[in-house]
Amino acid sequence: MTTAMVQAVDIHKRFDRVEVLKGMSLTVPAGNVTCIIGPSGSGKSTFLRCINHLEKIDAGELYVDGQMVGYEDEGTYLRELRERDIQRRRSKIGMVFQRFNLFPHMTVLQNLIEAPVGVLKESKSVATERALGLLDRVGLSAKVNAYPRTLSGGQQQRVAIARALAMQPKLMLFDEPTSALDPELVGEVLEVMKNLAREGMTMVVVTHEIGFAREVGDDLVFVDDGRILETGNPREMLANPTHPRTQEFLSRIL
Ligand code: ADP
Ligand code: MG
Repeated sequence: MTTAMVQAVDIHKRFDRVEVLKGMSLTVPAGNVTCIIGPSGSGKSTFLRCINHLEKIDAGELYVDGQMVGYEDEGTYLRELRERDIQRRRSKIGMVFQRFNLFPHMTVLQNLIEAPVGVLKESKSVATERALGLLDRVGLSAKVNAYPRTLSGGQQQRVAIARALAMQPKLMLFDEPTSALDPELVGEVLEVMKNLAREGMTMVVVTHEIGFAREVGDDLVFVDDGRILETGNPREMLANPTHPRTQEFLSRIL
């Protein structure tokens, strides 16, 4: 048994003939915030999608919360059993995307209770109570009955975070959560993420918000062309990147 929330050992992933992850190894201890940076197309989103069972790995080993994820499961369960198992495991992982992905025809509250009631079979009153607490935490109590289209991008993204938290995940994955936002709305979303980190949530965050990585990251990972080229303490790595590709990348975005 390991205390790591995520453990990836030499994982490979290809789409058709193209290898997108070329052997990535990473350990994320429970309670740790790991930030991932790297050029567009380097495999960052694919890596998160493998962790969240949205893609199957082709080789290597991947564990989330001590349970094996990925291709090894193939053939060991009947199809239906396997899918139920994957849904159960995935429910422990919250994911927030660049685009907010809220259900447009549902109010904020309905967005938050949909999965807890539908997937976890919670009662509506229990789910609603938790949802109201979460909306308070992200500063959106006044928007309980609003529809997503009436909210700003920053508000929508805060609802998306609250919706992920409504499933009481053990792990939160963020895929460039502020990249689609107008600059003046980035701060309010980062603030919610910082509070979450302070409360001890295990987080893997793909972001180019270097200030966030420096302030709250426990580890920083630089991915290039399907490989992890450098990893370390964010403060040290940002001040003194050792790999030439990391230096080049940082000089472009800083
Ligand atoms: P990043 O998030 O770092 O920008 P991605 O993980 O999205 O990179 O993509 C890595 C590479 O994999 C890219 O070349 C992309 O075109 C390719 N890719 C991603 N998803 C698919 C897919 N479903 N089918 C084929 N190629 C894909
Ligand atoms: Mg991406």
